[in-house]
Amino acid sequence: MRVFHVKHYDVVVIGGGHAGTEAAAAAARLGARTALISLKRAGIGVMSCNPAIGGLGKGHLVREIDALDGIMGLAADAAGIQYRLLNRRKGPAVQGPRVQADRMLYREAVQRLLSAQSGLEIVEGEVVDLIEQGGRVRGVRLADGTEMAAGAVVLTAGTFLNGVIHVGDQRHSGGRVGDPASQRLAARLGGLGLVRGRLKTGTPPRLNGRTINWAVLEQQPGDDLPVMLSFLSKGPALRQVACGITHTNERTHEIVRANLGRSAMYGGHIEGVGPRYCPSIEDKIVRFADKTSHQVFLEPEGLTDDTVYPNGISTSLPAEVQIDYVHSMVGLESVEVLQPGYAIEYDYFDPRGLRRTLESAVSGLYFAGQINGTTGYEEAGAQGLVAGASAAAMVMGTAPVRFARSDSYIGVMLDDLISRGVTEPYRMFTSRAEFRLSLRADNADQRLTPRGVSAGLVGAQRAQMFETKRVALERARRLLSETLVTPRTLEAAGIRVSQDGNRRSLMQVLGLPDVGPEQIIALEPEFGTFDGDIQLQTARDALYAQYLQRQSAEVEALQRDAGVTIPEGLDIAGIPGLSNELILKLVRRRPANIAEAGRMEGMTPSALALLCAHSFRFAAAGVAGE
Ligand code: FAD
Repeated sequence: MRVFHVKHYDVVVIGGGHAGTEAAAAAARLGARTALISLKRAGIGVMSCNPAIGGLGKGHLVREIDALDGIMGLAADAAGIQYRLLNRRKGPAVQGPRVQADRMLYREAVQRLLSAQSGLEIVEGEVVDLIEQGGRVRGVRLADGTEMAAGAVVLTAGTFLNGVIHVGDQRHSGGRVGDPASQRLAARLGGLGLVRGRLKTGTPPRLNGRTINWAVLEQQPGDDLPVMLSFLSKGPALRQVACGITHTNERTHEIVRANLGRSAMYGGHIEGVGPRYCPSIEDKIVRFADKTSHQVFLEPEGLTDDTVYPNGISTSLPAEVQIDYVHSMVGLESVEVLQPGYAIEYDYFDPRGLRRTLESAVSGLYFAGQINGTTGYEEAGAQGLVAGASAAAMVMGTAPVRFARSDSYIGVMLDDLISRGVTEPYRMFTSRAEFRLSLRADNADQRLTPRGVSAGLVGAQRAQMFETKRVALERARRLLSETLVTPRTLEAAGIRVSQDGNRRSLMQVLGLPDVGPEQIIALEPEFGTFDGDIQLQTARDALYAQYLQRQSAEVEALQRDAGVTIPEGLDIAGIPGLSNELILKLVRRRPANIAEAGRMEGMTPSALALLCAHSFRFAAAGVAGE
């Protein structure tokens, strides 16, 4: 007789992608006995699409994950081959750190960080069933019959649930290229009574870099002063590389246009909705028909890999058409296509059914990542951290870590997903955050690490580094706040302020637009004894301190105006500054008031403020005309 020995865990995580790895690591950091089950051990940490981490809005999420001692930032820095701080010329609030990663080294770094995590076991296998008992999920069953009992289960199956891969009119079941879809688990989940939908995403063809004519292409190097993704990293670990830049042209567009009917997306083979902000080449040519050229970044996938990722031309056209349009671009005339691009369609669950802990309507079952309707590694990782930490807290009977719109992009994302839901894959942007002046990538540790430390999510090394930094920042701030200078002294130092006779603190002076740490050091040499990082951080904090009051007033005004009626006659399409996307949605839905508009998917705080102002103006004009 065979005796099955059922292993017991506090938390079982299904899926070793970006959500699953953060979920498992977070649960284990909290002290939960955790198992991470994934289809292929070697596939843990795979980047399914672009070899890059971070970017606008996304870089903020990575920093927040990092502030809570997650793994994404550390893995990105271990694999970083080109760093760029996006929006460098704009204010720090909207700057997004981004790194192009060596795909293989990123995966290896994730696996190394997970194996170093105590209390975490990695299991290779396919989960096909959930074990329910007494109205809650109590474990999982694998395809080979193994059962694993758990206090809570976190599901992060990415694009694998009922995944269908499309290349032209060819389609087959798959979770991503080279991996099978999760059909049995999808069928089991279908029986839980949760609201499901279909979404899609796509990826470009991969090119052989040795067959690209680099000599004729413009090069884009990384930044001279690379900005790391993790607060713990000091500088790049690897040799840095440049990307090439080419462009689509009229010939490329002609080829795509002539074959639109053969594209899976335009030939009517796909019902799911794709990411608006990551359009395929077909989308670009249809939606932006007046443009005759689009930029394409040729991103090396690694230091020892010749594969190149052409960023900007994802597609579901037939393979032979892809070869044709790729060959039409400068530098790519003789390029070898190593793997055709494809689109994938998959199941997601309506995130409006989730709690803020990411527990689903089925007790003990948590959802994170692509299956909640988001797209992107960073969005997935951040949700994974929340779900893993919440599941562990629930099992261990402690309070879950909470996130609000006012304290983090994680809070913004949770709120958006749960209150507004999605009709297209959700990605993060700084414009989604009404508190974006205080939610900066540079201060994510100041915002979140203390909370992570008290919850037990942050390990000793980071806690100690953070404490050292916190003490130094506080000393620097105190020094500058307590040192007062007259307008005359400032003028003598070459800093122009109004000669109003008022003394100003050096903290206020550092907050002036053209003043940097060097000028402050000239006035107070002790400031020069602080590390360069501390000086710069103090400068950013000083710059934003003056705006925070205005930000709070704006947010309060929006809350106060929630009941304002949007007049029926208001010409929404004529409001300057509203995006086409929002105009379409507003015209279709016609919300009755600001509160209702605020709950619409894709709504941003600045768009709400515009709507509100124009509603007032319209009403006032109406009254005046009566
Ligand atoms: P994934 O990274 O997909 O991980 C899912 C994991 O679950 C895998 O490890 C898998 O093995 C495991 N798994 C699934 N089922 C089971 C099971 N039954 N048992 C055990 N393990 C299981 N994002 C962008 O931001 N921009 C893009 O342009 C973009 N394009 C994409 C194109 C394609 C073709 C694909 C596939 C994805 C694309 N993405 C893009 C999305 C990005 O890859 C995902 O957002 C991100 O990987 C989601 O992370 P995740 O952890 O939710 O899922």
